[in-house]
Amino acid sequence: MAERSRIHLEVEGLVQGVGFRPTVHRLTTQLALSGFIRNTPQGAELELEGQPDQVAQFVPLLQQQAPVLARIRRVSTVSIPPTGETGFHILPSVGQHAPDTQVSPDVGICPDCLREMRDPKDRRYRHPFLNCTNCGPRFTIIQSVPYDRERTAMGAFPMCEDCQGEYTDITDRRYHAQPTCCLNCGPTLTYLDGTGTAVEGDPIRLAQAHLREGDIVAVKGLGGFHLACLPEYASLLRTRKEREGKPLALMCADLDAARTLCYISRSEEEALTSWRRPIVLLKKHDPAPDVLSHTPELGLMLPYTPLHYLLMEGFSALVMTSANPSDCPVFIGNREAVEGLQGIADGFLLHNRDIVTRCDDSLVRIFRGEEYPLRRSRGYVPQPVEVPVPVQGLLGCGAEQKAGFALGKGKDALLSQHIGDLKNMETLEHYETQLHHFRTLFGVEVEGLACDLHPDYLSTQVAQQLAREWSVPLLPVQHHHAHMLSCMADNRLEGPCIGLVWDGTGLGTDGTIWGAECLAGDALSFTRLGSIFPISLPGGDACARDAGRIAHSLRYAAGLETNPQDMLTLQLRAGLNCPPASSMGRLFDGVYALLGGSSPVHYEGESAIRLEHMAQAGVTQALPVEMETVDGVCRLQTPALTVALLEGLQQGQSPHLLAAQFMNAMVELAVRQCQFARAQTGLDRVVLSGGVFQNMYLLPRILDALAAQGFEAYHHSRVSTNDEGIALGQLMAAAARRKEG
Ligand SMILES: [Zn+2]
Ligand SMILES: [Zn+2]
Repeated sequence: MAERSRIHLEVEGLVQGVGFRPTVHRLTTQLALSGFIRNTPQGAELELEGQPDQVAQFVPLLQQQAPVLARIRRVSTVSIPPTGETGFHILPSVGQHAPDTQVSPDVGICPDCLREMRDPKDRRYRHPFLNCTNCGPRFTIIQSVPYDRERTAMGAFPMCEDCQGEYTDITDRRYHAQPTCCLNCGPTLTYLDGTGTAVEGDPIRLAQAHLREGDIVAVKGLGGFHLACLPEYASLLRTRKEREGKPLALMCADLDAARTLCYISRSEEEALTSWRRPIVLLKKHDPAPDVLSHTPELGLMLPYTPLHYLLMEGFSALVMTSANPSDCPVFIGNREAVEGLQGIADGFLLHNRDIVTRCDDSLVRIFRGEEYPLRRSRGYVPQPVEVPVPVQGLLGCGAEQKAGFALGKGKDALLSQHIGDLKNMETLEHYETQLHHFRTLFGVEVEGLACDLHPDYLSTQVAQQLAREWSVPLLPVQHHHAHMLSCMADNRLEGPCIGLVWDGTGLGTDGTIWGAECLAGDALSFTRLGSIFPISLPGGDACARDAGRIAHSLRYAAGLETNPQDMLTLQLRAGLNCPPASSMGRLFDGVYALLGGSSPVHYEGESAIRLEHMAQAGVTQALPVEMETVDGVCRLQTPALTVALLEGLQQGQSPHLLAAQFMNAMVELAVRQCQFARAQTGLDRVVLSGGVFQNMYLLPRILDALAAQGFEAYHHSRVSTNDEGIALGQLMAAAARRKEG
């Protein structure tokens, strides 16, 4: 017998339910290896035997050809004596299934399935629900674990004989593909008219015909309903949906169609075509505001289900926006959608596979070649965010407006999908349902909770109730501290850092509203070292929608408000319902209004985005930055800034120039506050977090300016910089507190 060798391998990571064993089987056949594979709680265990040179090729080939969904963390190999074993065997799993290896995000249709769908000779020709081991619905159809068909929405569709044959054949690319189906055994489509009455005919052709006529069609998708229409009818959609201001995303037939609308770089192309299929924010060819987007940017995505590909035939692009009444969660049930979209949708393209878990489209932009998440949801969730410390059994309950939670398992943070604004009752219900779904899905017993410091946040109230119910400790975490910790975890940083956190509003430890914070500290504690002088917000929350009030307040504080009988002036002078806020978001709102930005603010952060696009290019001067240190906090003199801004306007300088000069001043502010913090603490690592860093004028300039001063500056890349990322920071605070005992 020729010389043989045998190795024992342990593979750690996500390798179950992702087509790993078929890949191994294919490679062992190719390399003429014998042996076995079995699943273990950590991943998989293998023994392989054959010609030494063939055995040696296995691991490199495995790493090259691993299935798209596999996440191999570690492969350890040891040589063992050959046994002369023949054949390759798949052995039963060892020990209990580790549920966290079982839940994958939803995966956009793969090229193989797309080819079959378009092949008239294939038995799945034009099948709207085909999928395989490498693609298809996952998170949105899984009811419970272990992951198999009975515990998914596909349990209602027993496999036909042909599908069953493929499912059990290890050489088939549908081996153990739980949701696999064909035209004989899979879900089916129906088309209903606007009144909810079924219409005879091919549902896809009917939907296409109505779209071509300018109708708005509700389309049941993967994680919820979309409202679809031709781009030229977008204003009708806006009117019916009462969705002012917020940009609308388009689904493009393919990359070429996307390129006719926007510039697309190599990394943007990668994001668009990745199996996650997020909406990618791209630069429009024509930067002018249009009905889809008031900025020079537009969100585009490519089709991600076979149904989308069939629907898009004959269209270059369709508006695809989530179908939800304002602030409510997106519809997932057929009946609720048909009832709830009366008067909005002219027709309904439905199917009979249930959406178990609601999951909106994700939204990313590409920043310096990397994804910069703005909404981390479908295609990303529930893939864990690995963090540097154990977080097992901890739960961060998040903020309120962009709610979301983070559940700890081992060193993984399991972040929820996009939830929405909890002040809406249905959204709050969705939040609580998902909290419990995640706990059971991932088998995590909660031992400790963290929430925002704000007692009125509904997420805080849920956390308090759960802490009582489960008799576990609850740690309130200051809003901006949580932001800072989120960005540290995102970058796998431990130990003390400077955190520059700029956002709308969050409750500070002194009971006032914060939002322009330069903090220093670690996961246990922090010191506030920088901020801005507070701005009075006449009417409190009313200011979030009416930036004119903040402009008035800025003028008043600078002594430039001349009409003493004005209602707002009287209110400011009396200090009636004028909470002070040291908030960068509110400062941006006020400056935007001072510069003549007239449109009302439709959503948090809109002014920051509008100022970004208002700014003239190539401006290097900055408005003067005056600072004063009071009680150890180095603060921007906002009145001095207002005076300089209004003087500029009086001298006839353009708002575009002044917008740039204002933001340049904020860059200088960032650097000087970090220098102040470094002088106090000796730290030179800075993390940037908070919704204001969605502003792409500020972010690169602050990063570069800090680097030029010898700082190591970090930004988000795995979780969102806005309040969606807060839950992760809370989780890290809870982990540090637990370790401290
Ligand atoms: Zn596929
Ligand atoms: Zn079938």
